[in-house]
Amino acid sequence: AAPPPARALTGAARAAELRAEVAALAASLTERGTTPRLAVLVATEDESTAWYVRSIARAATKTGIVCDTVTLPPTASPDRIAELLAELSADPAVHGVILQTPLPPGAVAAELAAAIAPDKDVDGANPLSLGRLAAGRPAFAPATAAAVVELLDAHGIELLGRTVAVVGRSTVVGKPLAHLLLDRDATVTVCHSRTADLAAATRHADIVVAAAGRPGLITAAHIGEGAVVVDVGTNPTPEGGLTGDVDAESVAPKAGALSPVPGGVGPITTALLLRHTVRAAERAAGAATGPEPGAGPGLT
Ligand code: NAD
Repeated sequence: AAPPPARALTGAARAAELRAEVAALAASLTERGTTPRLAVLVATEDESTAWYVRSIARAATKTGIVCDTVTLPPTASPDRIAELLAELSADPAVHGVILQTPLPPGAVAAELAAAIAPDKDVDGANPLSLGRLAAGRPAFAPATAAAVVELLDAHGIELLGRTVAVVGRSTVVGKPLAHLLLDRDATVTVCHSRTADLAAATRHADIVVAAAGRPGLITAAHIGEGAVVVDVGTNPTPEGGLTGDVDAESVAPKAGALSPVPGGVGPITTALLLRHTVRAAERAAGAATGPEPGAGPGLT
């Protein structure tokens, strides 16, 4: 008999719960005189970026967070971008600061993000945030990396003692995710473009996370029978849609669970950006209760 198709690790339900939690916290903060505010700096005319930023702004507004899209021309100098990030970081009315990519030629995100104050670095872009994460200190993790763990938790997938292969070593996804998984007592292998035999590194893993930005990279040959597969890839298709890094057609019949693109990690990512912003606002208001952001498992 054909194996049952992989369970779909969808993100919408958990994202809705997170947004409801955020809305309640935002309302309570606003009542006490602090309206949570997120600033997104954009220096590109790229259409898909504009679409993504509008979706963040819409989600923020719906949960009671004010979202300012701060726009610079695509010709802006790195110095001007850093200066504006520093200004936003110094503004007591702003609680979260995001530097949206892509950036103008010559501007390096990881360099410029150093100008974002760590306590407002809600997308974990400042290299200090990654360092703190690696050292097990309180920090905001990049929302996408945190969303992978949140998605697995939402579907009751155990991490403790299990093997996870992460495909991708970027500072935005792969590296911070490896640290979050280590904090959860998983055994982590990080693969990348120079990994000699990718399938050998992934096919014995209990969980495979694809974050390479290569459509169709992960096929049935890369995964073991019944493995959990999380697809972080968001690759534009010629038809104007999105496709992941996983060849779902070959992987779904073999995997135990597979996250869809779109509809898996993505919705949770946006919800976590909002949660981080409310946490930052709570801390700024001196109203923080409970653990510090990113202080350990599941807290980012
Ligand atoms: P990146 O280009 O910075 O990094 C890609 C990583 O994949 C690199 O470390 C590279 O070594 C590795 N890689 C590339 N080709 C490979 C191969 N053939 N085999 C093994 N490893 C390979 O990309 P990124 O910013 O980390 O993003 C990764 C993917 O995640 C992209 O599709 C991106 O669009 C998506 N993404 C999604 C969200 C979301 O909210 N869902 C957020 C950020 C990024």
